[in-house]
Amino acid sequence: MLRVGLTGGIGSGKSTVCDLFAELGMPIVDADVIARQLVAPGQPALTKLAEVFGLSIIEQDGSLNRALLRQLAFSDLLNKQKLDAIMHPLIYAEIETQIANLQTAYCIMAIPLLLETQKKHAVDRVLVVDCPPFIQLKRVIARDNVSTEQAEAIIALQAARETRLAAADDVIDNSASQTGLAEQVKSLHNSYLLLATSGIT
Ligand code: ATP
Repeated sequence: MLRVGLTGGIGSGKSTVCDLFAELGMPIVDADVIARQLVAPGQPALTKLAEVFGLSIIEQDGSLNRALLRQLAFSDLLNKQKLDAIMHPLIYAEIETQIANLQTAYCIMAIPLLLETQKKHAVDRVLVVDCPPFIQLKRVIARDNVSTEQAEAIIALQAARETRLAAADDVIDNSASQTGLAEQVKSLHNSYLLLATSGIT
């Protein structure tokens, strides 16, 4: 199974691209979805987080207080490291479990922080969804109703566009319309099928 790690900055269009691969019948193993499932009410990871960060991160109804956890993690580097030390091994273990059950020629592993978390070795190819930061900003502000400052701060914390492009085996240019996107995805889909059958990664 050819493992394609899909990454890109906030609002670059990762979900949009994943939907297009899914329309072609390809499985998407999504680190964000897995992370959310891992901290659902009653899950062991949530208990572990409460042990480390305090019971106040769990709401009355048993769900995670994401805003508080985010605030704790981003205000103190040690907290961020503790959070990553709990969540990353669980996320990667679940990714492997899901992949082990797949039968397709290739799969898309959507891992937003693939390059930030140094897990590049777990994938055969790095596919970067790319667009200039000013377009990221515009789309994030329109989608999430956040201020320009908040969106800029998140982008500044992530890997730089140049770093991502330097690590990419394949790039999808999402600076223009979504029509062009479908064509790029179809073309990559054909390349991945060829690569998977040739055994060359
Ligand atoms: P995040 O990092 O926050 O998970 P993402 O990388 O998955 O974001 P998307 O959610 O796919 O990005 O796209 C961000 C926003 O921009 C969405 O509202 C989406 O509909 C819109 N968008 C994506 N691609 C395009 C495009 N080519 N043209 C116009 N709007 C787009």
